[in-house]
Amino acid sequence: MPGLEDLYREIILDHHRNPRNRGELPPPAPHAVGHNPLCGDEIDVYLQVEGDVVTDVKVGGQGCSISQSSASMMSQAIKGKSVPEVRALVRRFKGMMSIPDEDGNPIEPDPDVKLGDLEALQGVVKFPVRIKCATLSWNTLLEALAQA
Ligand code: ZN
Repeated sequence: MPGLEDLYREIILDHHRNPRNRGELPPPAPHAVGHNPLCGDEIDVYLQVEGDVVTDVKVGGQGCSISQSSASMMSQAIKGKSVPEVRALVRRFKGMMSIPDEDGNPIEPDPDVKLGDLEALQGVVKFPVRIKCATLSWNTLLEALAQA
């Protein structure tokens, strides 16, 4: 029986090989570009927000498997969610990555916010240099949301 580590590795590889929601959305769709110079990762995030709901998301860019898998999982996880739900998910994900909140305090996991496939990235927290790879698309998402 495959262990949890194998399952997680398989999920990450699957999102890397078959990235979800690849592409772009035409202007005036909110769009942000993120760079992680430490690793050379680039992520484009395009949103379509109607009322209070993220009705579509497209992701472009290139980089390491962690950055691209995280972007793919992010796009899958946020599509169809309300903006407050998306913000709660960003917070939950950053908490999993041991990133403190705005005041520098640890983020307590909210049991109501489900991570799904994103749990596969929890092992990244053991490799601090890769945390920037995993969180790049999430920070880029926040920038795009700020334009919505
Ligand atoms: Zn990277």
